Amino acid sequence: MSSIANNLHTVEKKLSLAAEKAQRQRGEITLLAVSKTQPASALREAYDCGQRHFGENYLQESLDKIELLRDLDIVWHFIGPIQSNKTRPIAEKFAWVHSVDRLKIAQRLSTQRLFDSAPLNICIQVNISAEESKSGCSVDEVEKLADEISKLPNLRLRGLMAIPAASKDSSELETTFARMQSLLDTLRQKHPEMDTLSMGMSADMDSAIANGATIVRIGTAIFGPRNYK
Ligand SMILES: *Cc1c(COP(=O)(O)O)cnc(C)c1O
Repeated sequence: MSSIANNLHTVEKKLSLAAEKAQRQRGEITLLAVSKTQPASALREAYDCGQRHFGENYLQESLDKIELLRDLDIVWHFIGPIQSNKTRPIAEKFAWVHSVDRLKIAQRLSTQRLFDSAPLNICIQVNISAEESKSGCSVDEVEKLADEISKLPNLRLRGLMAIPAASKDSSELETTFARMQSLLDTLRQKHPEMDTLSMGMSADMDSAIANGATIVRIGTAIFGPRNYK
């Protein structure tokens, strides 16, 4: 087996185990393969192993890969920071956007979504650890933003996304994931269509799954270390 096939197999086993421990069904959790900096050939290899959901952070790089892999039935997720003057290709080429953190971006995505495409699935990125340097809306702003996004045509508000602050303390991370879960629970009273919690990466997927993650975003554990040039 190739290393990507091997890695996917290992990640799959971990996912199943984490789901079982959390008394959840494996089918409730989508594995998003985070393929930033990886060549199209690596994505093709993962696809050949059955992987369908891929997450990209950098717009130009992702557009090149979408073009190269257009013969495949891939579900593309945009998970990186969004500049407001670069929303059009995201609105046109992706099925999901996890990193919406302000109304202006959502409005542009809604306007620019092609009329014959399904609504664009949206997660609001929450700066759950209140880090100065991180993108994401604050916990205080999220309800208002959800209310506004839910009214936009061409978008489908699906849930929340977070990248918790790096921490060596696993109980701190656990608490952060739990706060995300309760935030989504609260929003669901008003917006029952919100069914998605995008959280958990290679190092912390167990804890994320224990706290209700429905999409885990796994890069390194599938593709190996990234090569930033
Ligand atoms: C890179 C990235 C990931 C994947 O991280 P790994 O540690 O490689 O699993 C997940 N989410 C986001 C938003 C990322 O930018």
